[in-house]
Amino acid sequence: MAEHARIVIVGGGLEGLAIAWSLALRGESDVVVLERNTMCSGMTGKSSGIVRCHYGVPSLAAMAWHGVQVFSDAEQILGTDIGFRQTGYIVGVGGNNTEPLLANVEMHRALGVPVDLIDADAVRAFWPGINLDDFAAFAYEPLGGHGDAYMTGMAYGTKARELGVTVRQSTEVTTLLTREDGSVYGVTLADGAEIHADTVVLATGVWSPALAATVGVDIPIKVQWEQLLLVDQGEPTPHVPTFSDLVNLQYIRREPNADLLVGNSDHSAPEFADPDNYLNRAGDAFVETAIGKLERLLPSMPDPRLASSYAGCYDITPDYNPIIGPSPVDGLFLAVGFSGHGYKISPAVGRLVADLILDGISSDSAVDGNDFRFSRFAEGKPLVSLNPYVGAGEMR
Ligand SMILES: Cc1cc2nc3c(=O)[nH]c(=O)nc-3n(C[C@H](O)[C@H](O)[C@H](O)COP(=O)(O)OP(=O)(O)OC[C@H]3O[C@@H](n4cnc5c(N)ncnc54)[C@H](O)[C@@H]3O)c2cc1C
Repeated sequence: MAEHARIVIVGGGLEGLAIAWSLALRGESDVVVLERNTMCSGMTGKSSGIVRCHYGVPSLAAMAWHGVQVFSDAEQILGTDIGFRQTGYIVGVGGNNTEPLLANVEMHRALGVPVDLIDADAVRAFWPGINLDDFAAFAYEPLGGHGDAYMTGMAYGTKARELGVTVRQSTEVTTLLTREDGSVYGVTLADGAEIHADTVVLATGVWSPALAATVGVDIPIKVQWEQLLLVDQGEPTPHVPTFSDLVNLQYIRREPNADLLVGNSDHSAPEFADPDNYLNRAGDAFVETAIGKLERLLPSMPDPRLASSYAGCYDITPDYNPIIGPSPVDGLFLAVGFSGHGYKISPAVGRLVADLILDGISSDSAVDGNDFRFSRFAEGKPLVSLNPYVGAGEMR
């Protein structure tokens, strides 16, 4: 006889494990997580882990704010270090984007997010030697920073297991099982075994479209290749805030070994990739562009050297916002398409999915569960920023 669990979660990455933990916290531990490799072996391990609330979509900002609060108290809540470094977070914009910055800050304050407008002198005091000629305004979140996505996901997994959830590694799901009416009632594993469930949650990141297609659900996710650099400045990077440069479209933060992590925020010409076969280092063109931008921002680096590079993939949706909610097929729930935001919002994703599965409604009045519905694309109602930045795409 096939095994049965109330909820089967496919994918043991950051989101699947956050969902398992949150369900268990709500008292629902008849949950099995199925991970084809090992926990957090997918794109979670590539995350820059930046934590900030600076979004133009209020629900996302509120979810990030919940994340900040969980990460700030992680030792207590998750019982372990998750690598969260509360460096503070600064976003800088040019003169053409001052108005949206001010509007976003007002919205964030209304959500309770601590955020200050600071001037160039204050930024220079945080970041010695930074060149701010390109910028007109800055917002500073003192509680932002960055965490370690792998450590965070493993902490969710450990907590979930402690509360009775089963996590099975090396367990690949090959198909979703459907009844004659098309509803999903379980999964088939690579060894042919079946696990039946009341609800199957797909949390398979960049790998989601293929699995959903087995039951005729067409998830509009593309796999966007993202290149990252690690730069040795010639001397250790001091303890500086994480900085988002919305003029040159790049972000930088200090690595634990005092190198600089340099990431891209320019999504005007995305490059798409095969998530199982992509170049795991930066290409020459990217290195040249990114280093050029970095040298403009930090002109007095003593002896800069490219220490290393790597790459990962975002699971991007057409509006660069996640899909969280029931699929068009009964029994199948989607938590996919995190589009590069999935670390900071992961505690809120877990909470929202648990709310929607157990109660059908978000427990946080600042997070409208309906915002992330799958059907918004077919309806022609993408989830977009209230205060979009000129030239910075929809990533905000
Ligand atoms: C380069 C990069 C930088 C990022 N930077 C940030 C950042 O600074 N801040 C931020 O908030 N977010 C960031 N993100 C986003 C965030 O890290 C991701 O959204 C998040 O880690 C994705 O988690 P996930 O669980 O959805 O996917 P994954 O971690 O990819 O997990 C999916 C899991 O599903 C498993 N799986 C797939 N198919 C099957 C199957 N058939 N059967 C069983 N298991 C299966 C995979 O093995 C994998 O472990 C970044 C992402 C990347 C790639």
